[in-house]
Amino acid sequence: MCELHETTTPAVGRRTLIRGAGGLLIGGGLVAATATAAQAATSQNGWPAGSSSTVPLSTLAVGAATFPAGVRNGDVHVVLGYVARRFNSEVEALVKGWCWGHSYRPISGSTTLSNHSSGTAIDLNAPRHPLGKSGTFTATQRSHIRSILSSCNGVVRWGGDYSGRKDEMHFEINVRPGDARLAALAKRIGGGGSTPTPSPIAWTTVKRGASGFRVTAIQHLLRQRGFSLTVDGSFGPTTQSRIISFQRSKGLTADGVVGPKTWSALVVSVKRGSSGQAVVAAQKLLTHRGYTLTADGAFGAMTATKTQAFQQSRGLTADGVVGTRTWARLTA
Ligand SMILES: [Zn+2]
Repeated sequence: MCELHETTTPAVGRRTLIRGAGGLLIGGGLVAATATAAQAATSQNGWPAGSSSTVPLSTLAVGAATFPAGVRNGDVHVVLGYVARRFNSEVEALVKGWCWGHSYRPISGSTTLSNHSSGTAIDLNAPRHPLGKSGTFTATQRSHIRSILSSCNGVVRWGGDYSGRKDEMHFEINVRPGDARLAALAKRIGGGGSTPTPSPIAWTTVKRGASGFRVTAIQHLLRQRGFSLTVDGSFGPTTQSRIISFQRSKGLTADGVVGPKTWSALVVSVKRGSSGQAVVAAQKLLTHRGYTLTADGAFGAMTATKTQAFQQSRGLTADGVVGTRTWARLTA
């Protein structure tokens, strides 16, 4: 997880309480000699901080990722879950083991605790967007991040917007407990109304007996995921049994039917520079849709161009990345 964003000053202002041997110190300017014994009562954004036994937390699972220790219950959970889900579907797929939520870590010699300490911050695909590095997202990805932040009406802040050291993996609640904007946002995105959530992804269900381009794609994707089978475009007993194994490995209902959940788990986000069976699947699907390519399994400039053309034709973000939404449209 990110380490040093704790030291940047949040837009909401800093009002961290430090309990040291000398009593209660307020403000960031008083770093007492007792700092080693100090315990901050709140995280940077004013939320009560503590270990997982004192902060009310719930698990969060989005796409392939789970957030160890979870994030803070209630409206915070609704909002951070919303950010993570949109990031997963619009910016890039979340990777298992690369995402973090609550983490209680007093910082030696510092007057502040990370917002992770109150369960009000998340790190997304941390190794890909390391602390202190800017420009880890493409312009298109950044525009999607802007769109997500804009939907959150200032309630969520992105570490990429820090004035000092950037922290592009990091998203946090940027209002204090009880702020009406948080409750309003959670209500809007959690419970219908004028929801800014993008339209749900529609998948075509495929099962035994089916044949054709979707089955071919499924078979390549299974091979990509390490299952051995012949790619013949025919959904027979072998394909069915591989799907059942795959579903079991993902904790899905093992019914051998490729429905929305199995599709979402099966597809692999591929882009320029990717190679392998998932790329072959994407190339064959693009060819099927009239964007003819050699299915060589190497995602080069031509595949990127055809992907963008397909995306444009379907009203998708034309970023040239075959992500969840593009897979769904390719296999519709
Ligand atoms: Zn972070």
